[in-house]
Formats: sequence, structure tokens, C-alpha cells
Amino acid sequence: MLTGAASPRGIGRATADRLAGDGWAIAILDLDAEAARTAAAEIGAAHGTRAVGVGVDVSDQGSVDAAVNEVEAALPPILGLANLAGISSPTDFMAETVAGWDRVFAVYMRGTFLVTQRVLDGMIERRLGRIVSVSSISAQRGGGTYSKVAYSASKAAILGFTRALACEMGPHNITVNAVAPGPIDTDIMGGTLTEERKAQLSVEVLVPRVGTPAEVAALIAFLLGPDAGYITAATYDINGGLRAS
Ligand code: NAP
Repeated sequence: MLTGAASPRGIGRATADRLAGDGWAIAILDLDAEAARTAAAEIGAAHGTRAVGVGVDVSDQGSVDAAVNEVEAALPPILGLANLAGISSPTDFMAETVAGWDRVFAVYMRGTFLVTQRVLDGMIERRLGRIVSVSSISAQRGGGTYSKVAYSASKAAILGFTRALACEMGPHNITVNAVAPGPIDTDIMGGTLTEERKAQLSVEVLVPRVGTPAEVAALIAFLLGPDAGYITAATYDINGGLRAS
């Protein structure tokens, strides 16, 4: 199950495609219900796998509950969860408002908490599960993408969430990990990146380009997959070396 996986050029959609190609049944949860259903239909048709698309606001408990109920009724038990739903937040700190700050934390931190807690019930019962949440280089470096302080702080919260939850879930045979991408060629940074913006974002990247959604998808798919059972509480950097530069 993936949240935030309906936008056609996003990391979530690429991850759903990758997982479907690996034989997983796919549930796409996204704010835009119609886009979620369309993405699921396309993925199901392309890979011959079962796929459902459901509308959700990850920041709302009732909405999360209803969406996961729908997934549970339609597909086999949920083995893996990727928390990808996200919004950008390019607001300078001194212009930040309480409403803006709270919205960013509601989507990233409350959303990750709500969706993860909801699916863990079944995972704990079955003693098998994989959780992967998307943080950002912005949490580690304070920048490197487009969004500012609220985003960096909420993405840093994902890292603490991941480590602490991994401690509680290890005994249940459930792994909990994070990935921290650098700049990736999606539309979240204020629209589709122009070549000029890609070049700007790549200035300090050791592999001198922005990353592709498919590259992040491959990492998430590995962490959700059967070979990653001894990896937990980890944060995987995927940033072309930006952090080191
Ligand atoms: P994206 O294509 O915009 O994907 C984000 C998706 O989340 C969109 O489909 C969006 O729907 C959805 N969403 C927003 N609010 C939601 C909510 N309350 N409930 C459910 N879904 C919601 O962007 P992306 O770049 O693939 O981002 C995926 C994740 O990677 C995000 O967490 C982002 O912060 C993270 N990330 C991205 C980069 C990068 O450079 N692209 C770098 C580091 C981390 P709408 O389009 O309808 O808003």
C-alpha cells in the first residue's frame, strides 16, 4: 500500500509501478480519488496485477480508516506500507504561519502516524510487515531541495519516528525504515522542473544531475521486499552524494 502515489510523475507512482512489476498487489491512496483510481487501473493493466485506487486525506483519521478498510476488503493482507504523501512548503521561516506550519506537520507527521498505526494492527497479528517512510535530505542538511523550515523539521520527525517505531516493532518481525532523497525530478517543487532548475539543484550533487523517481522506487521496493528482512531503523540516503559535497 502506498500513500501519495497517484501523481503521474511522482515517486509514489514510480514505486507502485516497480512493485507491481515485482508481482505485488497494489493499493494507491491519494488525496485525488479519481487520480488514484486511474493510476491503479493503469498499473493493473500494465502489469496484470491486482490494483486499487482509493481517495484519502492522510491527515484525517476517519479518512485513513475508511480508505484502509476499502483496501483490506479488496486485496490480500497488507504486507508493506510506503508513506509518500507529501506537499511542498517553500515558505521562509519569518513568513511562516501557524496554519501553514500545522498543515505541513499534519500531512507528514500526523499522516505517517495515522496510516502506519492503522496498518500495523494487521501486521502485528500476522507477525510480518514492512514500513518505509520518505524523509528528505532537507532533514539532514537543512536544504538541498525547495522547501524550507517546516518541511525540514517534519522530515526530520520522520527519522525519529522511524527509529523509535523500529524498536517497538522489531519483536513483531516488522521492519521500519526511511529513505532520504535529494532532489528528484517530480512536480512537487513548484511544478515540472525546467532544465535550468535541474542544473541549479544539481550544482552540489557529486553525480551531477537530479535523481529519477524510478531510482528512489527501486530503493523503496528493495526495503519493502523479502531480501530486506534484517534491515530496520535505517535511513537510506539517495542523493547523488549531495550530503557529502
Ligand atoms: P508528488 O508527485 O507531488 O507526490 C505527492 C503526492 O501526495 C501527490 O499525489 C499529492 O496529491 C499527495 N498528497 C498530498 N497531500 C496529501 C494528503 N493529505 N493525503 C494524501 N495524499 C496527499 O511529489 P513527490 O516528489 O513524488 O513526493 C513524494 C514524497 O517524496 C513526498 O513525501 C516528498 O516530500 C518526498 N521527497 C521528494 C523529493 C523530491 O525532490 N521530489 C525529495 C525528497 C523527498 P496532490 O498532487 O493532489 O497534492
